[in-house]
Amino acid sequence: MNRCLLVGSEKKVFIHPTAIVEEGAIIGEGTRIWHFVHVRSGAKIGRNCNIGKDVYIDVGVEIGDNVKIQNGVSIYRGVKVEDDVFIGPYAVFTNDKYPRAFNRNWKAVSTLVKKGASIGANATIVCGVTIGEYAMVAAGAVVTKDVPPHGLVVGNPARLKGFVCYCGRPLRDDNIVEKTSQYIIYRCSECGKEVRIPIELYERYLREAQK
Ligand SMILES: [Zn+2]
Repeated sequence: MNRCLLVGSEKKVFIHPTAIVEEGAIIGEGTRIWHFVHVRSGAKIGRNCNIGKDVYIDVGVEIGDNVKIQNGVSIYRGVKVEDDVFIGPYAVFTNDKYPRAFNRNWKAVSTLVKKGASIGANATIVCGVTIGEYAMVAAGAVVTKDVPPHGLVVGNPARLKGFVCYCGRPLRDDNIVEKTSQYIIYRCSECGKEVRIPIELYERYLREAQK
């Protein structure tokens, strides 16, 4: 066993023998770390996470509880991932706004992925953005600006194409049950939950959806 700090019982953390978990990394109970993963010193991973094959988790990265990271994802210094986030295979984060091989004073720019958000396969998340609660980034999207809570973003550069429920299903116009002066209220036809979208956000969607 590597000399990382395991929160809770060691028996309840699985680290595949091919994985490298550096001393000083913190791994929560119930988390599974699969083949050829590299977790750097000072990284903090919560409970009940699943870290797929070939994932790289850099120095100082924070991962919440119940996070699922699929094969081949690299999460660099400056990225924070909250609870219940899904990161699809080979999604990429950046952390340098002005990359130059010869710049010795570069600073990592931070990125935040909020609770319940999902990032599709092969998406690229350019640093400095916040991906809101329960947002959905489509496969292959290139995210260059903030994604609002429950927002669905698609394409390169990623544009707001709609909204999704907590359960991930799209919310369409025929799911709208109420419009107030401040919110559009949807009810999901899959799980029945209500989702409130502020009017100004709905208007941003109407503008971007035309593009
Ligand atoms: Zn739903």
